[in-house]
Amino acid sequence: MSAACQWLGLAIITSLTAAFAAWPQLVYSQAEVIDSRFWHGPDRTRLVLELSGAATYRVFSLEDPGRIVIDIDEGRLRQGVNFTTRSGGSVAGVRTGRPDPETFRIVLDLRLAATFHAFLLDPNGAYPHRLVVDVIQEAKTEEAASSPLDLREDDYLVVIDPGHGGEDPGAVGATGSYEKNVALSIARRLKRIVNWDGRMRAILTRTDDYYVSLRKRVTFAMTRRADVFLSVHADAAQRKTAQGASVYILSTHGASSEMGKWLAQRENAADLAGGVDIGQQDPVLQRTLLDMGLDWKIRESYDLGRSLLGALNEVGVLHNREVGRAGFAVLKAVDIPAVLIETGFMTNPVEEKDLQQELSQERIAGAIFRGLSTYCDADERCPRRTRDENTYVVAPGDSLRLIAARLGVSVSDLRRENGLQSGTLQIGQKLKVPL
Ligand SMILES: [Zn+2]
Repeated sequence: MSAACQWLGLAIITSLTAAFAAWPQLVYSQAEVIDSRFWHGPDRTRLVLELSGAATYRVFSLEDPGRIVIDIDEGRLRQGVNFTTRSGGSVAGVRTGRPDPETFRIVLDLRLAATFHAFLLDPNGAYPHRLVVDVIQEAKTEEAASSPLDLREDDYLVVIDPGHGGEDPGAVGATGSYEKNVALSIARRLKRIVNWDGRMRAILTRTDDYYVSLRKRVTFAMTRRADVFLSVHADAAQRKTAQGASVYILSTHGASSEMGKWLAQRENAADLAGGVDIGQQDPVLQRTLLDMGLDWKIRESYDLGRSLLGALNEVGVLHNREVGRAGFAVLKAVDIPAVLIETGFMTNPVEEKDLQQELSQERIAGAIFRGLSTYCDADERCPRRTRDENTYVVAPGDSLRLIAARLGVSVSDLRRENGLQSGTLQIGQKLKVPL
């Protein structure tokens, strides 16, 4: 049997607070696993172990059958923490054991051939120390896994980037709902609308609940030669009454407002919560774009932002009528028109509830699509409209309520305009869009 072995270590942090000084043996030696989570991405399964302190650990793989073994020195498992029901992806099962009295062992039984990458994260926000073990599928490349569409050379490609995901919930609402879920739902709806229309093609930087680093979101767009980059988020503010949508573009001269500055800091901190191995960062986010390209990009991004605000204004409240500017990392490194859309405030109880609703999400996605289409009309790289904008073609899964929300009209107007008695619709059926 061959065994690939990788040793990783970190010094145990031994600083003791005055309160614990009386029981040094209790705090010094043990690294307790206090929670565990699995996240399943297209190319990897991520296991996150929350730890009571920085631990020394080793991770290695074994073959026949394939396993990944995590040994934590002086480790133990908090009562009630359970791995067994949370496996999936390339991990078939999880076992724990104690090869010797000083070592707590976790064994991941693999379903598919995989390599691993492990790193520790320092405490961040609500999170304590975390040990992250990425189980990376060997056969499936990220490229293949995340490009379900057959893209053509001449496609006008829209990369939709649902913010946050996995370990990084983004803004947390008053009743505990997460920005990452709102962003993904709206992004999925937007993708469906764009692709059903067919004039442009849309792909998502993440398709489920897992974290994608800011760097990867950017390289995802760049390697596919995307034409437009839309990052979808939901906002947070100290003031619970703050409401409405905003659109931001990159600023090279500081933020246009205190709010924008604070927001960019918050959004740029996603990697800290989501979990990125700092040692593996490449300098792409620090890359300086050529001035000429940057001017063009910012001008185009501004025009796109104006179109989006115009469309969003027709279906809801705007937080700011002007396109905001701030130093968003995710906008900085793409060299195409790029905006960040805050669809509403998670911290406003009314909007938090609204942003969870199917029809509200559809209304916002529909508005973003119309804003994007208007921008596209003025962009010579974009194909001309193929559909009559006064006609809507019924898509699979459509209902009158959904269509009305998407078009930003009322159900009764839609019925009246089309003389519809029943709610039955046929896929491909053409409906007149009420003006
Ligand atoms: Zn966000």
